[in-house]
Amino acid sequence: NAPVTLKRLGDDATRFVAKEKKLYIGGAWLPAASGKTFDVIDPATGMVFDRVPEGTAADIDLAVAAARKAFDDGPWATMTPSERGKLVWRLGDLVEKHADELAELEALDNGKPVTDARLGDVAFSYELLRYMAGWSTKICGQTIPLASSAAPYHAYTLREPVGVCGQIVPWNFSLMMAVWKVAPALAAGCTIILKPAEQTPLTALRLAELVEQAGFPAGVFNVVTGYGETAGAALAAHPDVDKVAFTGSTEVGKKILDAAKGNLKKVSLELGGKSPMIVFADADPAVAIPAVAYGIFYNMGQTCTAGTRLYVHKDIAPVILDGLKDFAAKMTVGVGLDPSTQIGPLVSQEQFERVTDYVAAGLADGAHLFHGGKRVGEQGYFLEPTILTETTPDMSVVREEIFGPVLVVATFDDDGIDAIVREANNSIYGLAASVFTRDLSRAHKVAKKLKAGTIGVNTHHVIDPALPFGGFNQSGWGREQGYEAILLYTEVKSVGVAL
Ligand code: NAD
Repeated sequence: NAPVTLKRLGDDATRFVAKEKKLYIGGAWLPAASGKTFDVIDPATGMVFDRVPEGTAADIDLAVAAARKAFDDGPWATMTPSERGKLVWRLGDLVEKHADELAELEALDNGKPVTDARLGDVAFSYELLRYMAGWSTKICGQTIPLASSAAPYHAYTLREPVGVCGQIVPWNFSLMMAVWKVAPALAAGCTIILKPAEQTPLTALRLAELVEQAGFPAGVFNVVTGYGETAGAALAAHPDVDKVAFTGSTEVGKKILDAAKGNLKKVSLELGGKSPMIVFADADPAVAIPAVAYGIFYNMGQTCTAGTRLYVHKDIAPVILDGLKDFAAKMTVGVGLDPSTQIGPLVSQEQFERVTDYVAAGLADGAHLFHGGKRVGEQGYFLEPTILTETTPDMSVVREEIFGPVLVVATFDDDGIDAIVREANNSIYGLAASVFTRDLSRAHKVAKKLKAGTIGVNTHHVIDPALPFGGFNQSGWGREQGYEAILLYTEVKSVGVAL
């Protein structure tokens, strides 16, 4: 059945899939040092449709050496900020020019709806590249009056690129997660070794072709495809890498931290979530229902900010739950490459089993299957959008990140904010949260009290190139997007001049 899916690809994506894949290191296309490759699987059919090089520590060594040389020796290091910004902007233009192809590759590789990939992942990627291109020329230090020196001094700070950056990204938004890291690092003048997830390596390799086409000097951007435990671990531990930026699970995030200890490289982490959505009795159902549905079911729930825990006031619960059931029942489940698909397959067999195991555990713990829960079709990894009601705080489905299209619901009956905010904050995570109410004062009070990096009021996913994004608690360290991302990729140096 794989050809049925592949037949939906446009000419450009078909050409790219047919190409032999290589690592991009020091401006050259190379096979893995081991000569090995690994399979790329179409989650809509479970069939292998491509192979990519299996990079290991030897390839990471080569890529780090190339990135080090490009950082230390130029021409990258000696380019003006304006020239650097122009290249980043040009890369944004190329991503937009090839947007349909990139969206199709993402839909094929990850399974996600191609329409979401085009309007979400890919559009965000070129918008972010352009946003960050603008920062290239605006990164500056300060002049600082010394606080306690009696002698005359001229003191100032310089903000400099942090250096060689290892960037390790997950499979749920492969291109977009890569660009979140690549764009600010390039704008700041760093050099990069990108390690995409083994489940979805294609768009990172296509991005490398566009980087080459944009005219970046050799070694500024390198891509090594491979497994986490080998290529990823070697990159996180490498003594000549100055910073590692990681997006993925909290469990692996802790391993990155350990690996980074050797040379105390800088670390930023974007990790898991279990984000709450609170619907008060005065919420507008016409606003809350689609926002909550989109909050959980977008990208089949494989979204770090997914609104997985719904707390709904008992007075409005029947209306909201019926609306959600109706919404979920009408979502079109199908192959990602079909433009009308709203729910594609989960990314892999492993992920499918993980999610369905959680649903089974929730039911065994006493939750009620209000909607969905069943596999769709006999091939691929499709699961109905699922709603579990009557959940309690101790259940694993409420405490742990499921990373699938599964909403867990609990009702509350207190109209005050303290008890429900306490419950919403009762998590090891703190990535996102949302509140639905028509009471402006309550909305802002709740937003202030929620422990999460991004808060939505009458909406859930709030993401923009200009808005800092990241987690409280075990959802991570640091903020991507906005000027905060530039701070992640720069070091501050103080200079004091005795006059
Ligand atoms: P994962 O942690 O399994 O893998 C992420 C990346 O790390 C992959 O490239 C993988 O190859 C690599 N990796 C695995 N083990 C490694 C090791 N020992 N050393 C170095 N690298 C290693 O995560 P996943 O399953 O690909 O993605 C899902 C997770 O990502 C979820 O927990 C989700 O919440 C999180 N996520 C977070 C954000 C955010 O911004 N906070 C965004 C997207 C996804």
